[in-house]
Amino acid sequence: MPRLNSKSRRAADQQKAPLGQLRGCPFHELRVKFAATGLRPTRQRLSLGWLLFSRGDRHLTAENLAEEAQASNVPVSLATIYNSLHQFSGAGLLREVAVDGTRTYFDTNTLIHHHFLIDGTLVDIPEVKIDPLDLPPPPPGKRVAAIEVVVHLRDASA
Ligand SMILES: [Zn+2]
Repeated sequence: MPRLNSKSRRAADQQKAPLGQLRGCPFHELRVKFAATGLRPTRQRLSLGWLLFSRGDRHLTAENLAEEAQASNVPVSLATIYNSLHQFSGAGLLREVAVDGTRTYFDTNTLIHHHFLIDGTLVDIPEVKIDPLDLPPPPPGKRVAAIEVVVHLRDASA
């Protein structure tokens, strides 16, 4: 067995680095994310995860993601996209933001935060303090876990 000089030994050590320490490969990071939540890294989940998580924090509907999948030649049905989005949010990788009875946005920023809804687009409200709501006390045995506000906006002239 040939002896490795220190440079190639370092390279060999890097190749043996534990999975969680590799950086820079989006699919690798997704696999780590999925492994942490118990989601199986199927090809469809990895493709959709890559579309979702490789572009920073954002808000998408299932239809938005379907359009992106089509544009990127990722062959998935809308039903699969719905299922995957719900699996991702069930695993804590996305937050669901329901803005009315008919539309749900999926937010890649999973921290609790507030939104403006402007002409059908969800926009994060920068870290500002929302006036405390004058809430009645929760029913016995319950506590407030989170308060998330969606502020619906319309044109000032309307
Ligand atoms: Zn958001």
